[in-house]
Amino acid sequence: MTPPSAPQNAPGQQPLNRSRRRLLLGAAGAGAAVTALALTAPVRSLAQQVQEFIAGPPVPDVAPLQLSPHVWTIQARDGFPTPENLGLFANVLFVVTSAGVVVLDSGSSLQIGEMAIRMIRRVTPQPVVAVFNSHYHGDHWLGNHAFVNAFGRELPIYALQGSKDRIVGVEGNLWRNLMERWTNQATAGTQVVPPNRVVQHGQRLRFGQVELVMHHYGVAHTPYDLSIEVRPDRLTYLGDVAMENRIANMDDGSFAGTLEYFEKISLAAGEQLWVPGHGRASRTLLRDYGEFFRGIWEPSLQAVKDGHGVEVARANVLKDPRVARHASTMLGFESNIGRYISLAFLEAEQLAF
Ligand SMILES: [Zn+2]
Repeated sequence: MTPPSAPQNAPGQQPLNRSRRRLLLGAAGAGAAVTALALTAPVRSLAQQVQEFIAGPPVPDVAPLQLSPHVWTIQARDGFPTPENLGLFANVLFVVTSAGVVVLDSGSSLQIGEMAIRMIRRVTPQPVVAVFNSHYHGDHWLGNHAFVNAFGRELPIYALQGSKDRIVGVEGNLWRNLMERWTNQATAGTQVVPPNRVVQHGQRLRFGQVELVMHHYGVAHTPYDLSIEVRPDRLTYLGDVAMENRIANMDDGSFAGTLEYFEKISLAAGEQLWVPGHGRASRTLLRDYGEFFRGIWEPSLQAVKDGHGVEVARANVLKDPRVARHASTMLGFESNIGRYISLAFLEAEQLAF
């Protein structure tokens, strides 16, 4: 009787083992180099099979939408990652220039990045020559993996220094794991590919006839939010500084800082088509989202100034018309608003004391 611990060959394994043994036996006269060469082939194909087994499925195509003469978006419909949407909930933008394609946020997984490359191919045969990552949350840069696979390890990937450091540090793997968990492993196979170039506020980069202007105004959604103005299109990609269809996750951010960011970028860039990382672009996005944000921030600050507790802040925010007006169009409003009021209240307390 075979003991349970004895190795059992799966049906498909037998020929591989037999051919390996044959290679080993025949190697005596052929030399060690040949043996090594012959052995790597089945080993590599096995590794490839394992990789294919653990990688999530391809993401269905989402037709790109043209926003301006040079800029296209692959618009994510959902507000949050789920097993059903395979993690597709953040927009991917691409700028088509005579010097190649520039990608603004690369998607939330290897598979989403691969889908984005297929969509870019529908618009232009030009290669991707640069990628920008707006901040260190993984829904905006985990797709880097697909772009270096397709366009090489030397492909420039730009971010602010702080975002690059966070991705190289714990945030990189943390976000890779979070995306896998939220999508029930649909993003499996995605590797952390951090930015390899650093940009600063005020910097301008030219790609053919297009100029990209870097904007950064302190803590907003995170301490390192890069917004990218595309000239001459009068279009600015905001990352997660503003959103259209949901409330930004404010765990690493600042309500007061976000409102200040809006004022400064409006002043610097003027009238723009504002494009968020989540939701649809509009010319009134900063005004609309700013109004909603002031509806959360100002009653929270007032409650702290008046010596009230968070419950008073909560009640006043919920009846604020600026919040009520947007509540029905914000995905996840009911489940998240309490948390955001708590965060606003905490920030107001820190400001007051
Ligand atoms: Zn995001």
